[in-house]
Amino acid sequence: MWQPKSPQFVVKLTKHCNLRCKYCYEYPFLSDKTKIELPQIEAMLTHIAPTLVAHGIRQTSFSWHGGEPLLLPPDYYQAIYALQKKILGGAGIEFSNVMQSNLTLLKAGHLQMLKDGLVSGLGVSLDLFGDERVNVAGKIMDDMTLNNMQRLLDADISFGTISVLSHKTAPFMANLFHFFDEMGVSWRVLPIDLTGFEGQHIGNVLTAEKVIEIYKMLFEAWLNSKNAISVEPINEYMNAAMNALMPNSAKHKFDKAQDDSLFIVNTNGDLYAEADAYDDKYAYGNLFTTDLDSLLESPARKRAIERANMIVGSTCAQCPHHGDCSGFRMAEATTEKLYWDKDGQITCTIIRPMIDYIKERLVEVGLMPLLEKTEGGGV
Ligand code: SF4
Repeated sequence: MWQPKSPQFVVKLTKHCNLRCKYCYEYPFLSDKTKIELPQIEAMLTHIAPTLVAHGIRQTSFSWHGGEPLLLPPDYYQAIYALQKKILGGAGIEFSNVMQSNLTLLKAGHLQMLKDGLVSGLGVSLDLFGDERVNVAGKIMDDMTLNNMQRLLDADISFGTISVLSHKTAPFMANLFHFFDEMGVSWRVLPIDLTGFEGQHIGNVLTAEKVIEIYKMLFEAWLNSKNAISVEPINEYMNAAMNALMPNSAKHKFDKAQDDSLFIVNTNGDLYAEADAYDDKYAYGNLFTTDLDSLLESPARKRAIERANMIVGSTCAQCPHHGDCSGFRMAEATTEKLYWDKDGQITCTIIRPMIDYIKERLVEVGLMPLLEKTEGGGV
């Protein structure tokens, strides 16, 4: 039975954006001002709530995405929150909202909305290097983002940051780490993984070897850092490595049929899992018109489950870390994130070597001596 602890719905409220970041996978749609209207939000929530209750799920979250969600006015978010309280709260479901923004625009009403907890988590996209985050006129907008980050800090509103890892930003990853570590804010590094139009990423995608080299460097920087901020995906690999070193750690293997928990809702209401976003073959159906239970039973979801099982079967099933690492990232990898070996087999080219590396280093630097002893020496 489908029963994730807390499913998350990543909702594309609008594709409209004031920036034209050159690597953005929504690039072709960034001038489209269509937004999800409030009656559609109401329909979406009405189609989600009974399914969650029927499956014994009492908690969910929404991630407001774009485009740029802060182009939409504060009263829009207040109205959404009121609908959530009525429909989800009324059904006994706890909910929370997070948002992904370029933070170049932050009205007083938006700041208040963050203070009031209508949106309780904010991810700010900022590269600082690479010259790819530009506005329609081609101007870099980082100063506005930095000013607004300062306003958040002054108002004691916590936020995380996200930077894209590309050929252009790769040389500056150490600088970025130290910048965010000094500031004491969490940071996610996101290699380019989706394409908006043919040829968009030519010359800008890193090889797996280069990504691993950068991740190792970031792990070492983290080990020696002042504030030891949370850095994803390093943190995730470290958790798996620590699980592997701890004799009685809890094991979990991701099973998409039961654990499917990350859904993308497009501006037209179409629902996808993360791995298959915008691929019609895997569109579960429409959440504005159809209840979530029916979408979970759809032939497209069955195909998506088969796809995930096929990937996990050729990677995680043979992996010594399976259980310490849930395999979620492979199961939900977009086609652009997959690597094949010379025999045509899908391989876990980045996560597994990173867990091996961190595991070894944790023992070397003496963070796990007791565990090493308990395990009879050596890992
Ligand atoms: S193959 Fe990769 S994703 Fe799968 S369990 Fe191993 S390390 Fe994790």
